[in-house]
Amino acid sequence: RPSILWFRQDLRLTDHPALTAAIAEGAVVPVYILDDQAPGDWSIGGAQRWWLHHSLTALDGSLRKRGSRLVLRRGPAAAELEKIMIETGTRHVLATRCYEPWWKRIDAALSARADLVLHDGNYLAPPSAITNMSGERYRVFTPWYRRLLERMPPALPLPAPDRIAGPEQWPASERLATWRLTPTGPDWASGFGAWLPGEKGAFRALRDWLPAAGEYKTDRDFPARPATSRLSPHLHFGEISPRTLWHALGDRDDPGAEAFRSEIGWREHGLNLVDQMPDYGERNGRAPFDRFPWRTGAAADRDFRAWCRGRTGYPVVDAGMRELWSTGWMHNRVRMITASFLVKHLLIDWRRGERWFWDTLLDADFGSNAMNWQYVAGTGVDAPVFSRIMSPLLQCEKFAMGDYVRAFVPELSRLGDSEIAAMHGGGTGIGGYPAPLVGHQEARSRALAAWESLRA
Ligand code: FAD
Repeated sequence: RPSILWFRQDLRLTDHPALTAAIAEGAVVPVYILDDQAPGDWSIGGAQRWWLHHSLTALDGSLRKRGSRLVLRRGPAAAELEKIMIETGTRHVLATRCYEPWWKRIDAALSARADLVLHDGNYLAPPSAITNMSGERYRVFTPWYRRLLERMPPALPLPAPDRIAGPEQWPASERLATWRLTPTGPDWASGFGAWLPGEKGAFRALRDWLPAAGEYKTDRDFPARPATSRLSPHLHFGEISPRTLWHALGDRDDPGAEAFRSEIGWREHGLNLVDQMPDYGERNGRAPFDRFPWRTGAAADRDFRAWCRGRTGYPVVDAGMRELWSTGWMHNRVRMITASFLVKHLLIDWRRGERWFWDTLLDADFGSNAMNWQYVAGTGVDAPVFSRIMSPLLQCEKFAMGDYVRAFVPELSRLGDSEIAAMHGGGTGIGGYPAPLVGHQEARSRALAAWESLRA
């Protein structure tokens, strides 16, 4: 009897412990199920559907080269798996463990009806394995990361299989084209062309970035410099494993390599948080923020739309939001600035921004998105105080963002660095570019007053 290999956020063949185990047992039925019900509000967003389409195409191609193929189904995952179990005559299902709350719910339900075996594979260590001397979990990054490092290096990555035996009778598969994952009229993904979803693209991104690893620590905060790896969508979809990245750096201990490892650590910490607090994407980590006077109503809605569209009148914020819309990705420093601007300058609930990112980011990830939004908003368990308000002007100057703004805000493409800097909160409309939604000092005072009202 074959076993079922259930692919989820592990769309790769290299370093795939569940796949390796399935192959060792005999014939394998590789399956992907698009379940838009179980995640509820967190079903895959628009941008990631585009990625998923291409990543599944790549995975099916890699499987076919090895004598196998990908069976596609759509519907509630547990019910679809049960159907496939009947069609293939097996109850044995292998998968990579996931920590998002909806996957954990499905796994629990499925365990009662299937012989479900979960393997670790998408993280350097299972979140529950990182505890203090008393066996307690961490919610703060630094001590958590120190403990993680004690377990490093991780085991060596597993090679991709040469052949994968299939069953005598393949279960039916849907056609990917009928899922309509890619946009048609208008094609908002036309600017996504630089990405290559799939395992090959992940290894290409790693290969392209490695020569710049030495400069990563110094350059990673400058959005106009190509210093970061752009591996995030590949990591989210599991097209490359974190331990492959870890070993790609070898035994380098220069500041660039150390900083990169720690960012991989931040990704895992996001999972560590949502594993402990499954509602972290929806609920303030600090309860007093449940009473925070977020702006609501027509004016706030109008400001929110302006933020989404990159029309706030703050060049670095607008460049970031337009980069996000046109490329499906935004530089980390600019994510911090745009998020801070929404929450503190516009006083709009971080959860609205988090949802927008969920729908527009190619790397949208439940743990990383929730952790970072709560961190920037100051609402998180592991965040600096709310009163630390970022100044878009100072960020623009400190991280030399002129080229970045000119690349994404064509209305300002003729302005020099100092003219762009001067427009943060003080500019007037130039060539159709909007005037600022709110002045910086006014916004700062309003945010601090809201914070004080909460403290009172
Ligand atoms: P690199 O700098 O090359 O880093 C390598 C890898 O480390 C990344 O691919 C990513 O997996 C991880 N990483 C780096 N920085 C962080 C971080 N701050 N938190 C968690 N992991 C990190 N990242 C996501 O993957 N998905 C999200 O939904 C997401 N939402 C975010 C929302 C906000 C408000 C902010 C401020 C950050 C968010 N990030 C998110 C984190 C970070 O911006 C991206 O991981 C990073 O920009 C991806 O680019 P890169 O692959 O070139 O990163």
